[in-house]
Amino acid sequence: MRFQPALDKIPVYEAGKPIELVVREYGISPEKVIKLASNENPYGASPKVENAIREAVYKMPLYPDDSYRNLKEALAKTHGVDAKNVIQGNGSDQIFDFATRSVLNPGDKILQNGKTFSMYSIYAGQCGAETISVDSVLHNLDLFLDSYKKNSPKIIFICTPCNPIGDALNKDDLFSFLEKISPETMVVVDAAYMEFGKTRDPKKEVQASELISKFPNVLYTNTFSKIYGLGGMRIGYGIGNEELIRAFYKLRAPFNVSQLSQLAATVALEDRKFVDDYLRSNLKELLRYEEFARTKGLSYFESYTNFITIELDKARLTSTQLFETLLKEGIILRNLKSYGLNAIRITIGKPEQNDIVLDRLEKLL
Ligand code: PMP
Repeated sequence: MRFQPALDKIPVYEAGKPIELVVREYGISPEKVIKLASNENPYGASPKVENAIREAVYKMPLYPDDSYRNLKEALAKTHGVDAKNVIQGNGSDQIFDFATRSVLNPGDKILQNGKTFSMYSIYAGQCGAETISVDSVLHNLDLFLDSYKKNSPKIIFICTPCNPIGDALNKDDLFSFLEKISPETMVVVDAAYMEFGKTRDPKKEVQASELISKFPNVLYTNTFSKIYGLGGMRIGYGIGNEELIRAFYKLRAPFNVSQLSQLAATVALEDRKFVDDYLRSNLKELLRYEEFARTKGLSYFESYTNFITIELDKARLTSTQLFETLLKEGIILRNLKSYGLNAIRITIGKPEQNDIVLDRLEKLL
């Protein structure tokens, strides 16, 4: 069979290792595994969500409400926009899929940061488009602008705060950059980690309502996989002007988010205390890792997220050696070798998980 040629250039997305793999391969019991590899919420989801799901299990045989009205109205209220500006996705990943398929043709280009979330490029590749990456680890908007002028990309992806580095742009810098971009170019602002960023520094906060009212070419995306602890439910969303959202609806499969996922997300938005407690714990624990790296003389990136990326050039072990050693002990971190970095990315866990990880790092590094 001949597959379409675009597939030859697309790598398969490499996800963080699941708990099941460590259990299977190293015989470690699941409750002993510490998984800090995929930036999930270590506290799980709000108990209110768990109760709502339990009570709604009887709805499993039924197709979801395909208008997603409750969810979209809740999101519209949370973000100060209209429900017509919102589209739900099977993870925010699916929103990137809509974005790329809505404008890209073979031979087009997208522009992204040197180190960034890999799905942008994968979706663009599926459309036969080429990815131009800015030659920079941290987001550098001057370099973005130079490359934008040179390459005329159809989409610019800005991930702020950024995975896998953790850096975040100041809102003012982002807005003055957006003013220089043609309304014909779509700009996707991936805000998956925004709440963590603004908790550390309010200057990083970019609000969807302001963004889309000033820039009709900008799409804001966010997810329930991080602060709301719903990674396994696969639900995210996009916010943009009505015309853009209408175009995305033409690309959407019916019932693209499950019944229980939309319920989980809607209830999750109501439990602000759960989120605030997590954000507080995350920042406190993140600072412990930063302090650790400083005292060890290791370089790290100041993080505006729920993870920290530590470079291991000055360490006794490479990122691959450290990753493999800890994996056998049931501690799953993320090796950033595939990003061209000798660095390890650690999701910030609960204090007791971080105690164990920091103790092992202290001994191994
Ligand atoms: N954007 C960024 C920056 C991410 O790190 C992730 C997940 N790791 C996503 C988007 C996708 O999130 P989801 O599909 O689970 O909503």
